[in-house]
Amino acid sequence: MTTSVVSESYILFQEKMIDLLRQWEERLDSDSITAFTANPIQTEIPFTMQVKVECEPGTYQDMLHEILNLVEEWNPELHDQLQRIGAHITAITLGSTISDISSDCQLDPWILPYVTEQATRPILRMVSAKYREEITKIETKGLCPCCGEPVRLALLEKGRKMLLCPRCHASWQENRLTCSHCGNEDVKAIRYLSVDGEDKAQIHVCDHCYRYLKVIDIRAMLDKPAPELLDIQTIHLDIIAQDNI
Ligand SMILES: [Zn+2]
Ligand SMILES: [Zn+2]
Repeated sequence: MTTSVVSESYILFQEKMIDLLRQWEERLDSDSITAFTANPIQTEIPFTMQVKVECEPGTYQDMLHEILNLVEEWNPELHDQLQRIGAHITAITLGSTISDISSDCQLDPWILPYVTEQATRPILRMVSAKYREEITKIETKGLCPCCGEPVRLALLEKGRKMLLCPRCHASWQENRLTCSHCGNEDVKAIRYLSVDGEDKAQIHVCDHCYRYLKVIDIRAMLDKPAPELLDIQTIHLDIIAQDNI
């Protein structure tokens, strides 16, 4: 698959990050992560936006430290900023705002949101697996029913269209001919764009809501790729889609 818009070193870094987060998913104890709310679960709001998710603070801090180390390995020039984040990890865990810490530590605006997002992902993935039954009942058109990430990626698998969240790994089936954002079923209002030289990738563009979905046919693939890596490897499809909306 073409990856010309993303550098090889960035893909390599992302692959290492994916590996690290996968190791953390395996190390996390499902019993140490809980999601709870005093209210009944509402079926039109993403699950993690209506429950309080709790995880051991020490675990989250350890994950953050390992993520900081990996970011530094990728870009040593960030050493000083990453050190300052490391010194403030307790404040991050206690819930100080990202913008306050970024400003106190004089950080580039992207760094803290990026590393805290990465550290959140193994926890979200644990939640999406542990509470799958509750999440299955939630229908949030255009958003992941678990974490609320906007829908953008689907796999064609055994003739089914499976929507996949690169963030929390929730997956759910949907009608192949329906727009995953607005539910439009008028096939004349959905365009199916193919990309030269890529017979496994399609972009579905909806002329009702002007949004799109990257659809990857994985039936002939030997290994099912990690959804977050597939999402990065297909950034060129996002660019093509945005040019065709
Ligand atoms: Zn999600
Ligand atoms: Zn639509």
